[in-house]
Amino acid sequence: MTSISKSKTNFRSLIDKSQSGPALSREEIIKLLKMPDDYLPYLFTAADQVRKEQVGDEIFLRGIIEFSNHCERNCLYCGLRCGNQKLSRYRMSFDEIIATAHQIKKEQIPTVVLQSGEDSVFSTAIICNLIERIQRETGLIITLSLGERSQADYESYTQAGARRYLLKHETASREIYNYLRPGCKLESRLQCLFSLKKLGFETGTGNMVGLPGQTPEILADDLLLMKELDADMLGIGPFIAHPDTPLRDIENDALDLTLRVLALARLITRNTNIPATTALSTLHPQGRLQALQAGANVVMPDFTPEVYKSRYDIYPGRADAGSAAEIMAKLKSDFQTIGRTLLYSTGDRQK
Ligand code: SAM
Ligand code: SF4
Repeated sequence: MTSISKSKTNFRSLIDKSQSGPALSREEIIKLLKMPDDYLPYLFTAADQVRKEQVGDEIFLRGIIEFSNHCERNCLYCGLRCGNQKLSRYRMSFDEIIATAHQIKKEQIPTVVLQSGEDSVFSTAIICNLIERIQRETGLIITLSLGERSQADYESYTQAGARRYLLKHETASREIYNYLRPGCKLESRLQCLFSLKKLGFETGTGNMVGLPGQTPEILADDLLLMKELDADMLGIGPFIAHPDTPLRDIENDALDLTLRVLALARLITRNTNIPATTALSTLHPQGRLQALQAGANVVMPDFTPEVYKSRYDIYPGRADAGSAAEIMAKLKSDFQTIGRTLLYSTGDRQK
């Protein structure tokens, strides 16, 4: 047997092992992160199979409203950072947010994601008020993605009726995290995630792929952290450089690497909900569909009103263009091309 065919057997059997259930060691995950691209179709097929067995063929939808692009943090990668003077800032009014939630309801999507920068003008009392009103008027399941808040705040949100929270850990490397998020500590982020889990939120974490200084070893630690946290949702997206941030010159065409990490996340965490992120379609027109065939099972269409959408400028070229009805029609026809259908149920993680 030549050394090439030996190594082929090795990668394929590692993927087979992972597909059938047993946990991969850190060394094995690193091997799969470093294996030649030739094996990617085999990896994606295995992840797709596990997705089918564990969470079925349907795609769960979450409608997202980006209600404020004000942010008090200064993350080096993000266009909303407070140091970006060029951004035209907005806050949606209560009535605008509620009207958008009604549109999501009208499209039969059962859950809404309220996302913003870290904006203390939206105080805990205001957010709780908003949660209660959306619940009362629409009955939608509410997911929050507001960044780091105190445990007491999280407790108030859950008492007001919020059920889910998205807070990506971004990177498991302490050094990279502390460098990219000035004044922040990875430990505090993880503490928030532990608090959310303890309070009973369906909790989402995740990372960016293609960050400066990131190695396969760090990506393996990201995957192990997702498993250790027993996160219910995993947002795994490529880093995309924004021209008005300090990382403007970092090139990233990490489509294949992002899909590889996503597929491994499916193999390692089994029954989690994994979105095919909009950032993937920014890198490649077929990126989102490719993710749905490599382990992903969730799509989060952006319902932010047109007048604000382009100003939620995390990275360039990201918006799902068009009205709610246009976005939904495009998604439906895209999903048909890969033989998948929409599911209008709540899409809780089945444990
Ligand atoms: N402020 C909250 C937070 O940081 O958790 C929620 C909003 S933040 C804009 C949502 C996500 O955007 C972050 O978790 C981060 O992963 C992602 N993000 C920010 N800048 C990005 C970039 N340049 N490329 C890809 N994703 C980015
Ligand atoms: Fe603010 Fe979140 Fe962007 Fe950081 S990633 S600058 S916390 S919006």
